[in-house]
Amino acid sequence: MGKIIAITNQKGGVGKTTTALNLSASLALANEDILVIDSDPQGNLTSGFGIKKEDMKAGLYEVYSGKASIEDAVLQTIIPNLYIIATSMDLFAAEIELLETQERENLLKLLLKPLKEKFRYIFIDCPPSFGLLTLNALVAAESVIVPVQCEYFAMEGLSILIKLLWRIRGNFNETLDIEGILLTMYNRHLALSRQIADDVRRVFKSKVYDTVIPRNVVLAESPSHGKPAVLYAPNSSGAQGYIALAKEILNENNLLF
Ligand code: ADP
Ligand code: MG
Repeated sequence: MGKIIAITNQKGGVGKTTTALNLSASLALANEDILVIDSDPQGNLTSGFGIKKEDMKAGLYEVYSGKASIEDAVLQTIIPNLYIIATSMDLFAAEIELLETQERENLLKLLLKPLKEKFRYIFIDCPPSFGLLTLNALVAAESVIVPVQCEYFAMEGLSILIKLLWRIRGNFNETLDIEGILLTMYNRHLALSRQIADDVRRVFKSKVYDTVIPRNVVLAESPSHGKPAVLYAPNSSGAQGYIALAKEILNENNLLF
């Protein structure tokens, strides 16, 4: 049975999409069957996999609006056992159209039901906002991965997010868990980076992954080549970071069984 994990943080530019791209690819390269869903209308995850609108039979918008079945929207990526539900800018309209739908916060959860058996993990890359697209992801998910950039205001952003997650638990999804908090864009030569990492670990303890993703330009460059860094430059420090994260997640989840 697959586990649905939303990758979320209301702040933009913290590494959500980079994590969705490289973690899903690392797990797929470790022979797990993986699905990633691009739930940000900006479509950075879609283009990071080198997928263009003309490659898509249907995207997440068409699924939400009932114009296509979810099976029609599942597309194979360059990694054979890694699949994506891609997105175009049309998804901006879903945020508005969902307001008029009866199952407006439950829809993604219902739509994903037939796919849960087929994948070990389903990751949802969230937009940097608290709208209905994020709410649908958090209702569908069993847990969340929260990327946190090792920069000023990281703790403030994180405490806002934790409050939101508690509200979601209270109102919509009582078992929603924190899968892990991921420190991203870490620069070990910067005192600020080290201090933020220490602060986050002191407060959130074992919820913080041991793995830290370093700041590495390869992670920023590889999407323009339509590939995750773990394929484009597997020996780069950024790629190695995500490969280590994939191992940590597999170990943690096995221990639970
Ligand atoms: P989000 O999805 O949270 O908005 P992104 O994953 O798109 O954030 O990252 C924001 C920008 O920072 C992108 O240009 C991305 O390529 C770059 N980036 C992300 N993680 C790293 C990293 N560890 N090192 C260097 N650049 C990074
Ligand atoms: Mg993003």
